[in-house]
Amino acid sequence: MGEPVIDLLGLQARDISAWFGTHKVLDRVSLDMPAGHVTALIGPSGCGKSTFLRILNRMHELIPIASLAGEVWLGDMNIYGPQVRLTDARSHIGMVFQKPNPFPTMSIYDNVLAGLKFVGIKPSRSEKDSLVEECLVKAGLWKEVQSRLRSPGGGLSGGQQQRLCIARSLAVRPKVLLMDEPCSALDPTSTRRIEETIMEIKSEVTVVIVTHNMQQAQRVSDLCAFFLAEQGQPGYIVESGDTVAMFDSPQDPRTFDYVHGRFG
Ligand code: ADP
Ligand code: MG
Repeated sequence: MGEPVIDLLGLQARDISAWFGTHKVLDRVSLDMPAGHVTALIGPSGCGKSTFLRILNRMHELIPIASLAGEVWLGDMNIYGPQVRLTDARSHIGMVFQKPNPFPTMSIYDNVLAGLKFVGIKPSRSEKDSLVEECLVKAGLWKEVQSRLRSPGGGLSGGQQQRLCIARSLAVRPKVLLMDEPCSALDPTSTRRIEETIMEIKSEVTVVIVTHNMQQAQRVSDLCAFFLAEQGQPGYIVESGDTVAMFDSPQDPRTFDYVHGRFG
Protein backbone atom coordinates (compact mmCIF):
# COMPACT_ATOMS: atom_id res chain seq x y z
CA MET A 1 0.00 0.00 0.00
CA GLY A 2 1.19 3.49 -0.79
CA GLU A 3 0.55 6.66 1.14
CA PRO A 4 -3.12 7.07 2.01
CA VAL A 5 -4.85 9.52 -0.30
CA ILE A 6 -6.01 12.54 1.66
CA ASP A 7 -9.15 14.22 0.42
CA LEU A 8 -8.63 17.90 0.90
CA LEU A 9 -11.69 20.01 1.51
CA GLY A 10 -12.09 23.75 1.28
CA LEU A 11 -14.29 25.91 3.43
CA GLN A 12 -16.70 28.50 2.12
CA ALA A 13 -18.50 31.17 4.14
CA ARG A 14 -21.62 32.58 2.53
CA ASP A 15 -23.20 35.81 3.73
CA ILE A 16 -22.25 35.40 7.37
CA SER A 17 -23.74 37.93 9.76
CA ALA A 18 -23.30 37.67 13.52
CA TRP A 19 -24.79 39.24 16.62
CA PHE A 20 -24.15 39.31 20.34
CA GLY A 21 -27.63 40.14 21.62
CA THR A 22 -28.70 43.05 19.45
CA HIS A 23 -25.11 44.11 18.70
CA LYS A 24 -24.33 43.15 15.11
CA VAL A 25 -20.62 42.41 14.74
CA LEU A 26 -20.37 40.90 11.23
CA ASP A 27 -22.28 41.91 8.13
CA ARG A 28 -22.72 39.45 5.24
CA VAL A 29 -19.18 38.16 5.09
CA SER A 30 -18.46 35.75 2.25
CA LEU A 31 -15.09 34.10 1.83
CA ASP A 32 -13.60 31.14 -0.01
CA MET A 33 -10.91 29.31 1.92
CA PRO A 34 -9.70 26.84 -0.67
CA ALA A 35 -8.44 23.34 0.04
CA GLY A 36 -4.77 22.90 0.73
CA HIS A 37 -4.09 26.61 1.08
CA VAL A 38 -3.43 28.91 4.00
CA THR A 39 -5.89 31.81 4.26
CA ALA A 40 -4.93 34.65 6.60
CA LEU A 41 -7.55 36.89 8.22
CA ILE A 42 -6.13 40.32 8.98
CA GLY A 43 -7.55 43.56 10.33
CA PRO A 44 -7.65 45.73 13.46
CA SER A 45 -8.89 44.44 16.82
CA GLY A 46 -12.63 44.25 17.26
CA CYS A 47 -13.55 43.84 13.59
CA GLY A 48 -14.92 40.32 14.10
CA LYS A 49 -12.09 38.01 13.02
CA SER A 50 -12.35 35.71 16.06
CA THR A 51 -16.14 35.71 15.82
CA PHE A 52 -15.89 34.75 12.15
CA LEU A 53 -13.44 31.95 13.01
CA ARG A 54 -15.73 30.62 15.75
CA ILE A 55 -18.61 30.57 13.28
CA LEU A 56 -16.51 28.42 10.95
CA ASN A 57 -16.53 25.54 13.45
CA ARG A 58 -19.78 26.17 15.30
CA MET A 59 -18.23 27.50 18.49
CA HIS A 60 -20.13 30.79 18.19
CA GLU A 61 -23.40 29.06 19.02
CA LEU A 62 -22.04 28.03 22.43
CA ILE A 63 -22.22 31.66 23.56
CA PRO A 64 -25.75 32.09 24.98
CA ILE A 65 -26.50 35.54 23.56
CA ALA A 66 -24.86 34.86 20.20
CA SER A 67 -26.72 34.38 16.93
CA LEU A 68 -25.82 34.23 13.27
CA ALA A 69 -27.12 34.17 9.70
CA GLY A 70 -25.59 32.68 6.58
CA GLU A 71 -24.01 29.37 5.71
CA VAL A 72 -20.67 27.62 6.05
CA TRP A 73 -19.83 24.86 3.58
CA LEU A 74 -17.12 22.28 4.06
CA GLY A 75 -16.82 20.79 0.60
CA ASP A 76 -20.44 19.91 -0.20
CA MET A 77 -21.59 19.81 3.44
CA ASN A 78 -23.42 22.74 5.00
CA ILE A 79 -22.06 22.54 8.56
CA TYR A 80 -25.22 24.28 9.81
CA GLY A 81 -27.44 21.81 7.94
CA PRO A 82 -30.14 20.15 10.09
CA GLN A 83 -28.58 16.67 9.74
CA VAL A 84 -25.07 17.76 10.77
CA ARG A 85 -24.16 17.12 14.39
CA LEU A 86 -22.08 19.61 16.30
CA THR A 87 -19.43 16.98 17.08
CA ASP A 88 -19.10 16.06 13.39
CA ALA A 89 -18.57 19.65 12.37
CA ARG A 90 -16.11 20.15 15.21
CA SER A 91 -14.09 17.01 14.39
CA HIS A 92 -13.67 18.08 10.76
CA ILE A 93 -12.79 21.66 11.66
CA GLY A 94 -10.28 22.02 14.50
CA MET A 95 -9.19 25.13 16.35
CA VAL A 96 -5.93 26.32 17.90
CA PHE A 97 -6.16 29.33 20.20
CA GLN A 98 -3.96 32.29 21.05
CA LYS A 99 -3.02 30.91 24.44
CA PRO A 100 -1.78 27.31 24.28
CA ASN A 101 -4.26 25.17 26.20
CA PRO A 102 -2.89 21.66 26.68
CA PHE A 103 -4.19 19.74 29.69
CA PRO A 104 -1.31 20.70 32.01
CA THR A 105 -1.20 17.64 34.27
CA MET A 106 -1.96 15.15 31.48
CA SER A 107 1.04 13.51 29.78
CA ILE A 108 2.28 14.72 26.40
CA TYR A 109 1.18 11.35 24.97
CA ASP A 110 -2.35 11.59 26.36
CA ASN A 111 -2.64 15.23 25.34
CA VAL A 112 -2.13 14.28 21.69
CA LEU A 113 -4.94 11.70 21.97
CA ALA A 114 -7.26 13.83 24.10
CA GLY A 115 -9.61 14.78 21.24
CA LEU A 116 -10.29 11.23 20.09
CA LYS A 117 -12.90 10.34 22.67
CA PHE A 118 -15.04 13.28 21.59
CA VAL A 119 -15.23 11.91 18.09
CA GLY A 120 -15.77 8.32 19.25
CA ILE A 121 -12.46 6.88 18.00
CA LYS A 122 -10.93 4.12 20.17
CA PRO A 123 -7.56 3.13 18.71
CA SER A 124 -5.55 0.11 19.85
CA ARG A 125 -2.34 0.60 21.84
CA SER A 126 -0.12 0.28 18.76
CA GLU A 127 -2.40 2.56 16.72
CA LYS A 128 -2.14 5.10 19.52
CA ASP A 129 1.65 4.91 19.55
CA SER A 130 1.92 5.49 15.83
CA LEU A 131 -0.70 8.24 15.83
CA VAL A 132 1.08 10.08 18.64
CA GLU A 133 4.37 9.90 16.79
CA GLU A 134 2.84 10.89 13.46
CA CYS A 135 1.08 13.94 14.90
CA LEU A 136 4.06 15.09 16.94
CA VAL A 137 6.26 14.78 13.85
CA LYS A 138 3.80 16.85 11.81
CA ALA A 139 3.62 19.45 14.56
CA GLY A 140 7.42 19.63 14.61
CA LEU A 141 7.66 18.49 18.23
CA TRP A 142 8.63 14.82 18.04
CA LYS A 143 12.39 15.23 18.32
CA GLU A 144 12.08 17.41 21.40
CA VAL A 145 9.66 15.21 23.34
CA GLN A 146 10.08 11.62 22.14
CA SER A 147 12.09 10.69 25.24
CA ARG A 148 9.56 12.14 27.67
CA LEU A 149 6.12 11.35 26.30
CA ARG A 150 4.90 10.49 29.80
CA SER A 151 5.84 13.91 31.23
CA PRO A 152 3.05 16.42 31.78
CA GLY A 153 2.15 18.74 28.91
CA GLY A 154 2.30 21.68 31.27
CA GLY A 155 6.08 21.23 31.64
CA LEU A 156 6.75 22.29 28.06
CA SER A 157 7.69 25.80 26.95
CA GLY A 158 4.95 28.01 25.50
CA GLY A 159 6.01 27.32 21.93
CA GLN A 160 6.18 23.58 22.57
CA GLN A 161 2.74 23.67 24.22
CA GLN A 162 1.32 25.37 21.14
CA ARG A 163 2.83 22.68 18.90
CA LEU A 164 1.36 20.07 21.26
CA CYS A 165 -2.05 21.68 20.74
CA ILE A 166 -1.51 21.50 16.98
CA ALA A 167 -0.62 17.80 17.32
CA ARG A 168 -3.78 17.25 19.40
CA SER A 169 -5.87 18.95 16.71
CA LEU A 170 -4.29 16.88 13.94
CA ALA A 171 -4.94 13.59 15.76
CA VAL A 172 -8.64 13.61 14.86
CA ARG A 173 -7.63 14.12 11.19
CA PRO A 174 -9.50 17.35 10.58
CA LYS A 175 -10.09 18.74 7.12
CA VAL A 176 -9.57 22.29 8.34
CA LEU A 177 -7.45 23.81 11.07
CA LEU A 178 -8.46 27.24 12.35
CA MET A 179 -5.81 29.21 14.24
CA ASP A 180 -6.61 32.38 16.17
CA GLU A 181 -3.38 34.37 16.59
CA PRO A 182 -1.49 31.16 17.45
CA CYS A 183 1.86 32.93 17.83
CA SER A 184 0.94 36.14 19.58
CA ALA A 185 1.99 34.75 22.99
CA LEU A 186 5.25 33.27 21.64
CA ASP A 187 8.84 34.44 21.15
CA PRO A 188 10.20 34.92 17.60
CA THR A 189 11.97 31.54 17.44
CA SER A 190 8.86 29.63 18.55
CA THR A 191 6.83 31.72 16.14
CA ARG A 192 9.00 30.72 13.19
CA ARG A 193 8.76 27.10 14.25
CA ILE A 194 4.94 27.28 14.22
CA GLU A 195 5.06 28.98 10.83
CA GLU A 196 7.17 26.11 9.45
CA THR A 197 4.62 23.68 10.86
CA ILE A 198 1.78 25.54 9.15
CA MET A 199 3.56 25.41 5.82
CA GLU A 200 4.20 21.69 6.24
CA ILE A 201 0.65 20.68 7.19
CA LYS A 202 -1.13 22.72 4.54
CA SER A 203 -0.70 19.91 2.02
CA GLU A 204 -3.10 17.82 4.08
CA VAL A 205 -5.28 20.27 5.95
CA THR A 206 -6.84 23.56 4.92
CA VAL A 207 -5.56 26.30 7.25
CA VAL A 208 -7.26 29.56 8.25
CA ILE A 209 -5.17 31.79 10.50
CA VAL A 210 -5.90 35.11 12.19
CA THR A 211 -2.76 37.18 12.59
CA HIS A 212 -1.85 40.74 13.51
CA ASN A 213 1.67 40.20 12.25
CA MET A 214 1.86 41.37 8.65
CA GLN A 215 5.23 39.67 8.08
CA GLN A 216 3.67 36.44 9.28
CA ALA A 217 0.70 36.85 6.94
CA GLN A 218 3.13 37.29 4.05
CA ARG A 219 5.31 34.36 5.08
CA VAL A 220 2.63 31.74 5.68
CA SER A 221 -0.49 32.61 3.72
CA ASP A 222 -1.46 32.05 0.12
CA LEU A 223 -4.62 34.12 0.42
CA CYS A 224 -5.60 36.99 2.63
CA ALA A 225 -8.85 38.65 3.73
CA PHE A 226 -8.82 42.14 5.20
CA PHE A 227 -11.56 42.75 7.79
CA LEU A 228 -12.59 46.19 8.97
CA ALA A 229 -15.31 47.67 11.19
CA GLU A 230 -16.13 51.34 11.34
CA GLN A 231 -16.81 52.71 14.83
CA GLY A 232 -19.83 50.89 16.29
CA GLN A 233 -20.56 49.18 12.97
CA PRO A 234 -20.39 45.47 12.10
CA GLY A 235 -17.22 44.07 10.56
CA TYR A 236 -16.97 43.20 6.88
CA ILE A 237 -14.33 42.19 4.37
CA VAL A 238 -12.82 45.14 2.51
CA GLU A 239 -11.02 42.87 0.07
CA SER A 240 -9.58 39.40 -0.21
CA GLY A 241 -7.37 37.51 -2.60
CA ASP A 242 -3.85 36.45 -3.35
CA THR A 243 -1.56 37.48 -0.49
CA VAL A 244 1.20 38.88 -2.71
CA ALA A 245 -1.31 41.04 -4.57
CA MET A 246 -2.96 42.18 -1.35
CA PHE A 247 0.37 43.46 -0.06
CA ASP A 248 1.87 44.76 -3.31
CA SER A 249 -1.11 46.14 -5.17
CA PRO A 250 -4.29 46.17 -3.07
CA GLN A 251 -7.52 47.39 -4.66
CA ASP A 252 -8.55 49.51 -1.70
CA PRO A 253 -6.46 52.32 -0.18
CA ARG A 254 -7.52 51.19 3.33
CA THR A 255 -5.93 47.80 2.69
CA PHE A 256 -2.74 49.53 1.58
CA ASP A 257 -2.70 51.64 4.74
CA TYR A 258 -3.35 48.66 7.00
CA VAL A 259 -0.79 46.28 5.53
CA HIS A 260 1.79 49.06 5.67
CA GLY A 261 1.14 49.61 9.36
CA ARG A 262 -0.57 52.99 9.04
CA PHE A 263 -3.41 52.03 11.44
CA GLY A 264 -4.78 49.23 13.60
P1 ADP B 1 -11.38 40.49 16.63
O1 ADP B 1 -11.07 39.06 16.79
O2 ADP B 1 -11.27 40.97 15.19
O3 ADP B 1 -10.60 41.37 17.54
P2 ADP B 1 -13.93 39.81 17.87
O4 ADP B 1 -14.58 38.81 16.97
O5 ADP B 1 -13.25 39.31 19.08
O6 ADP B 1 -12.93 40.70 16.97
O7 ADP B 1 -14.99 40.88 18.33
C1 ADP B 1 -15.91 41.49 17.43
C2 ADP B 1 -16.95 42.27 18.21
O8 ADP B 1 -17.74 41.37 18.95
C3 ADP B 1 -16.35 43.24 19.22
O9 ADP B 1 -17.17 44.40 19.24
C4 ADP B 1 -16.44 42.49 20.53
O10 ADP B 1 -16.57 43.38 21.61
C5 ADP B 1 -17.71 41.69 20.34
N1 ADP B 1 -17.67 40.42 21.10
C6 ADP B 1 -16.77 39.42 20.95
N2 ADP B 1 -17.04 38.39 21.78
C7 ADP B 1 -18.13 38.75 22.49
C8 ADP B 1 -18.92 38.12 23.50
N3 ADP B 1 -18.62 36.89 23.97
N4 ADP B 1 -19.98 38.79 23.99
C9 ADP B 1 -20.31 40.02 23.53
N5 ADP B 1 -19.62 40.67 22.56
C10 ADP B 1 -18.55 40.06 22.05
MG1 MG C 1 -9.62 38.09 17.94
